[in-house]
Amino acid sequence: KEYREWQTKKVRTTCPHCATGCQYDLVVKDNKIVDVIAADGPSNHGKLCVKGRSGSFDFVHSPDRIKYPLIKNKKTGEFERASWDEALDLVASKFMEIKKKYGSDSLAGFACSRSPNEDVYMVQKMVRTCFGTNNTDNCARVCHSASVAGLAMTLGSGAMTNPIYDITHDVDAILLVGSNPEEAHPVVGMQIRQAVQNGTKLIVVDPRDIGLTKYADIHLKIEPGTNIAFANGMMHIMIEENLIDKKFVEERTEGFEELAEIVKDYTPEKVAKICHIEKERLIEAARMYATANKAPIIYCLGVTEHSEGTRGVMSMSNMAMLCGKLGREGCGVNPLRGQNNVQGACDMGAMPTDFPGYQKVKNPDVVKKFEEAWGVELSKEPGIHATDVFPAAIEGKIKGLYIYGEDPVVTDADTTHIIKALKSLDFFVIQELFMTETAQLADVILPGMSYAEKEGTFSNTERRVQRVRKAVDLTQNPEFDIRLDTDIIIDLMNRMGYPQKQMTSAEIMDEIASLTPSFAGISHERLDSEECAKNALQWPCTSKDHPGTPIMHVGKFSRGLGWLYPTEYTPSKELPDEEYPLFLMTGRILYHYTTRAMTGRTPGLMEIEGKSFIEMNEQDADRLGIKDGELVKASSRRGTIQTTARVGTKVSPGETWMPFHFPDGNCNWLTNAALDPFCRIPEYKVCAIKVEKIK
Ligand code: SF4
Repeated sequence: KEYREWQTKKVRTTCPHCATGCQYDLVVKDNKIVDVIAADGPSNHGKLCVKGRSGSFDFVHSPDRIKYPLIKNKKTGEFERASWDEALDLVASKFMEIKKKYGSDSLAGFACSRSPNEDVYMVQKMVRTCFGTNNTDNCARVCHSASVAGLAMTLGSGAMTNPIYDITHDVDAILLVGSNPEEAHPVVGMQIRQAVQNGTKLIVVDPRDIGLTKYADIHLKIEPGTNIAFANGMMHIMIEENLIDKKFVEERTEGFEELAEIVKDYTPEKVAKICHIEKERLIEAARMYATANKAPIIYCLGVTEHSEGTRGVMSMSNMAMLCGKLGREGCGVNPLRGQNNVQGACDMGAMPTDFPGYQKVKNPDVVKKFEEAWGVELSKEPGIHATDVFPAAIEGKIKGLYIYGEDPVVTDADTTHIIKALKSLDFFVIQELFMTETAQLADVILPGMSYAEKEGTFSNTERRVQRVRKAVDLTQNPEFDIRLDTDIIIDLMNRMGYPQKQMTSAEIMDEIASLTPSFAGISHERLDSEECAKNALQWPCTSKDHPGTPIMHVGKFSRGLGWLYPTEYTPSKELPDEEYPLFLMTGRILYHYTTRAMTGRTPGLMEIEGKSFIEMNEQDADRLGIKDGELVKASSRRGTIQTTARVGTKVSPGETWMPFHFPDGNCNWLTNAALDPFCRIPEYKVCAIKVEKIK
């Protein structure tokens, strides 16, 4: 400890990494965060993972922070320091010039899923009121947009149905599909492990051996991209063996006949062949899940990041509905959302089709409501999704782009295509903490503030809206000329001609509540009160005295009847062949979060895991003459990278896996931007590559 208690203050806030939403105290000494202490939050109960514990403050005080506005000198290509007036005048005038010349829909603006709800709300408001378009989105597009779309279609609401505590305590079985919570959502992973040690059965469905596989009763090590076949096989067995909840299906769902017709062909023999698993284990898994009283499905990006991701998500809700495991304790369909506020970024309307609270752009009454509240005529046409903005930029249809805190050069599929798109823009502005790979391509960089420097709220994966509180003030440091992100946006709105009054974060939440029925009962005042000290509110929270909604779809689905969506398995868009004989899957590791922009500034985390690697099966490595730890070249039809081989049996023969955190040797130079037809998510989890020894 480098401090004594009496020298410090403690500020209760929410971890800025994953969507578990752990609560902790930032310990502050002399305007500097010196420690993190776990709090007894509703999702973490005094636990933290290594990212939250060690990776939550070095980046705040990093010397790499962007400290003042920067404008790129067109002649030299170098960034030069600018005043706020120079930078904001340039941004406002350029965007308005593009709007006048090419129309509103030639502009787009992405919000940051790491930033508070209030910031995201203001970004989408700026895009809609000033740019005049619905071309706004957030990085859920590349992680859980399939959950938002799939669960909204089948259940009526695209969010986790049950709380974390509820699905990890006193449940009979857990069906964990395409999720590695011990690394991506570690505090959820700890609770699952504990549940299993206390007697809960665990079925892991994952092409890799993840940490929890050791504790699992059944591991279905399916071939990448075969989730729908697996789910149809499970449902075939449930129907054949009369394991379904007939009363629930009859009273609360529609579409059973069509679903039964499709899954009747998915015999255990056929599914075992498609998924490369043993049919007996599939049968055992179907029986275990269907007969357990309390059994949640927990899933993650292994289900969503496919060109058939939305149908994969609908397959999860199909299984739960068939067995009557929705709308009650210890059950449900539970996507573990990725980033700290990716749930909130969707809730706040940073989506091309939805205003805040999933109110549809296509509904004229909704548009009218927002026009009246915001005092301006709004576009009635849905915008384009973030993953469609990049090809549109290459085609010359998108001319100006504003990005608040995202790094698509590192995170999006097919890096070559993303760089080409960003270079095609007439004008590109980014609001950022660090000089990321994406920021380097911008015309103007507006320096942002971190979560520890502002007030606001994050919505975690279980729809719980929790406070983020200001712990340090870096504006006191003469090196910094930074402003609150919402103040920057408000200033820009005014410079673009929209009269946006100055608002605090609490006032912005009041405006959100006034326009968003599912947030109507939420305010900073209420979240700061004794009532929410232990258990912050979960939306829907429809009035000031509404207690929030821990479990959704009790008695009735948000859409009325649940829809059993019949769907066939179709193979992924790019499969291994002679030239590119190996599957590549991508994912996260315990020590870093997304682009490493934050966790990469903690030396201890970088010492443990600081470089890109590729997991290979020992049989493939043997055949290729590659040894564990050797440098290798990995190539797909879209690019080539150099990385380090990790040889073992975590992945099956013919398959490889890479994390996407490391800009050097990043797997996204290889991944395939084949998009899901419903939600436009790219197929990160399946593409074809070859790996060669570097001689
Ligand atoms: Fe932070 Fe997620 Fe770790 Fe909790 S589990 S401490 S929210 S990174």
